[in-house]
Amino acid sequence: MTSSALVLFSGGQDSTVCLAWALARFDRVETVGFDYGQRHSAELAARPRILEKLASDKLGADHLLSLDVLKQIGGSALTDDVKIEMGASGLPTTFVPGRNILFLTVAAALGYRRGIAELVGGMCETDFSGYPDCRDQTVQATARALSLGLARDITVHTPLMWIDKAATWALAEELGGQALVDLIVAETVTCYNGDPAPHDWGKGCGECPSCALRASGYKKYRGA
Ligand code: ZN
Repeated sequence: MTSSALVLFSGGQDSTVCLAWALARFDRVETVGFDYGQRHSAELAARPRILEKLASDKLGADHLLSLDVLKQIGGSALTDDVKIEMGASGLPTTFVPGRNILFLTVAAALGYRRGIAELVGGMCETDFSGYPDCRDQTVQATARALSLGLARDITVHTPLMWIDKAATWALAEELGGQALVDLIVAETVTCYNGDPAPHDWGKGCGECPSCALRASGYKKYRGA
């Protein structure tokens, strides 16, 4: 039987590694991305370039879905002109409430239509900003709710859940060699400011928390 997976693919570093991970494990892989009114569309613009470079006979359709509702709700530094800092809730202002739960729900619904029950996402609780919807418990509880609500077994694979950014770079090398590491450096965007300035660790402003995490992970990976 053909195994298939749907990868939540934003065009960032983590989801690109997840895509390579899925291509190594499944016979057929489709991708889904979400336009939720992000202030910077650099990530979304990177998606087709990365997909082109990872093209293989396993890689199937790409889906780009609109989730304007997150922009309508607003209030996050990722959707509105809000300063990136620690918020009163104890979470950074980059937190978009409900985002990953919504992404998983919509991906599962799309998967239902596409005959795919295996989802792959880059959520990670090891080395991130403490977003509660990136935690394994949240992701697995959502998978359980979706399995009940769709009356089929939905599995959510999170290959990055327990590894840090340095190990994510190492996983990229393990999956796709230097070529994949180079592709991630050249094409993926994770900067909260959508800055395209080049560095040895990739493109970004070099200042925001996402760039800081990516740069320090790269340094550790390179053994510097
Ligand atoms: Zn940045």
